[in-house]
Amino acid sequence: MEPISTVANTLALKQELVEGAALVASIGLVPLTQGNLSLRDPESGYILMTPHDYAYDQMTIDDVLVQDLAGNVIEGFREPSHESPVHLAVYEKRPEVLGIVHAEPIYTNLFGVLHKAIAPLHVNTLIDVGGEVPVMPFAPSGSRQFGYDMLEVMGDRRAVVWANHGMLAVGDSLRKAIHCTVMVEISAQLYHMALQHGEPHLIPPEYHDRLVG
Ligand SMILES: [Zn+2]
Repeated sequence: MEPISTVANTLALKQELVEGAALVASIGLVPLTQGNLSLRDPESGYILMTPHDYAYDQMTIDDVLVQDLAGNVIEGFREPSHESPVHLAVYEKRPEVLGIVHAEPIYTNLFGVLHKAIAPLHVNTLIDVGGEVPVMPFAPSGSRQFGYDMLEVMGDRRAVVWANHGMLAVGDSLRKAIHCTVMVEISAQLYHMALQHGEPHLIPPEYHDRLVG
């Protein structure tokens, strides 16, 4: 049976995506046209995503691409993001994921160029991300295989750093994925600053299970 999506539902989700993108852009996590965001319509199963290389401050609901899981464009006239295969790989393999953010925050990128995992120094890193944020070895990001490989590195975490290329966060809503993105960046900044003063103390591992949300 063909998936059913009401026009009203799609419009509300497009609005949610554009507002989420504007929020992430307003706090500097996706400078200019970098990064991309998507969400899944739980009714139709379609993926709504920001277009390739398009300024967030000009983005309206008409710019949103609607794709099926195979990557066919169902709606939208902009060029699909070159990283849509990565998002689609996540939606394909992780049915609980309803929102994804690929961002380029500066402190997260600092650890990405060092190929160094971001330690769960703050309780919120554990609560929101699920633990240390791992780094995926460098690879070009435009394929579904990249997404599959990324999920292996990510494991049960809700975020992963891409070596030399930003990060990706997932959530059971776009809001949660945005929240996770912000926490990864705060953790990276905190970790970097703490390292200037010595070796930071980690949260004892025996508390991790209790804190992970
Ligand atoms: Zn990218």
